[in-house]
Amino acid sequence: MKQDIIIVGGGLNGPALAVALAKSGFGVTVVDPRPPLARGQRGFDGRAYSLAIASRRLLGAIGVWEGLDTQPILKIKASDGRAGQGAAPFFLTFDHAEIEEGPMGFMVEDRFLYTALHDAMEAAGVTRVTGTVVAQGGGVTLSSGERLEAALVVGCDGRGSGTAQRAGIRRVGWGYGQTALVTAVEHERPHEGVAHQLFLPSGPLAILPLPGNRSSIVWSETDANATAIQALDDDGYLAALRPRFGDFLGDIRLAGTRFTYPLSLSLADRFVAARVALVGDAAHGVHPLAGQGLNLGLRDVAALAEVLVDARRRGEDIGALSVLDRYQQWRRFDSTAMALGMDGMNRLFSNDNPILRLGRDLGLGAVNAWPALRRGFIRQAAGLSGELPALLQGRMP
Ligand SMILES: Cc1cc2nc3c(=O)[nH]c(=O)nc-3n(C[C@H](O)[C@H](O)[C@H](O)COP(=O)(O)OP(=O)(O)OC[C@H]3O[C@@H](n4cnc5c(N)ncnc54)[C@H](O)[C@@H]3O)c2cc1C
Repeated sequence: MKQDIIIVGGGLNGPALAVALAKSGFGVTVVDPRPPLARGQRGFDGRAYSLAIASRRLLGAIGVWEGLDTQPILKIKASDGRAGQGAAPFFLTFDHAEIEEGPMGFMVEDRFLYTALHDAMEAAGVTRVTGTVVAQGGGVTLSSGERLEAALVVGCDGRGSGTAQRAGIRRVGWGYGQTALVTAVEHERPHEGVAHQLFLPSGPLAILPLPGNRSSIVWSETDANATAIQALDDDGYLAALRPRFGDFLGDIRLAGTRFTYPLSLSLADRFVAARVALVGDAAHGVHPLAGQGLNLGLRDVAALAEVLVDARRRGEDIGALSVLDRYQQWRRFDSTAMALGMDGMNRLFSNDNPILRLGRDLGLGAVNAWPALRRGFIRQAAGLSGELPALLQGRMP
């Protein structure tokens, strides 16, 4: 079978790219070992994403936004704190009223986003192949021996990207010695669309609003603490969470599966090679501290789709390195800067050093008191800064 483009990986970025490219007239195949609906048909497993305004526009442009059950994020509050002592007095607050684009972002559950993307792939005529890619060159070879040919192979195969390895692309990165405990809770009082980022000495705790009186929890702890907490029964787990969470939403109880995720930084040293491009976590796996991982991936999707559509218009070979280099130039600086920014923030906040603690509290207070700087942060987090490809402006390239 010969296609224009083969996408390795049917997680979230792979399907989003497939729909954008198929709607632009390319022949696209997506390969993933998991049967398409296994992930979407599960009940709520606690996984949810915060999507920036720019990501929402992209999903709207490719026809995936309509009908998605989402929770707008109206305010973000960040503060420094210690378990049992509540938040430090300096709060950094970002309010959607400070920008004209509306809510600063949206929370969406993984099962809904995944299913919507896979439905859109089917509607756009994307070919879906269940299999594992084991070799590449002029296309890909699956573990079954089946061979698929294409002008371009895009690796959307996550942090351990085999596509990158097979293309000789190396990765740099390090572990944080931290593990994220991920779940969802139900609470007595409404969250009113407020997302909280509480910086605790052993790692940040994000409390992110979901539809109804529910919030998603991404709770980073040292590896040893996380292992001990995950081993507790549900009552013990909640007893450990409550002093960190505080009582501002009333009593809490578990409303999702509990799972853990080891945290690391992983950056590909190139995003492209001849006839190969990397997108999403395959190119850059970042700390989930600011909920930017998927948003960065969707920015890759928008930039690569635009570069490929332009190349075809000009009659260029879409797999040529000179074409793919344009994608790399567009995306590499932004994602590396974001990854290192998250890394620095995590290091600055994940400790109990009294001098750093005073410094960061003053820093949070200073940013809070400086409206122009605050608006700059909001626009950056919303994905509205820099040169925006068409999809991030809400239109097809
Ligand atoms: C705790 C946590 C919270 C997060 N919260 C947020 C958030 O709020 N907002 C946000 O923007 N981001 C968030 N992220 C980041 C986000 O989850 C990831 O950036 C995103 O899921 C990456 O998607 P992907 O499609 O690039 O990769 P993946 O989801 O890793 O998908 C890779 C796919 O490739 C397939 N694959 C692998 N190898 C092969 C092969 N050889 N052949 C064929 N297929 C293959 C796999 O089966 C898989 O389906 C969070 C991450 C974590 C860990």
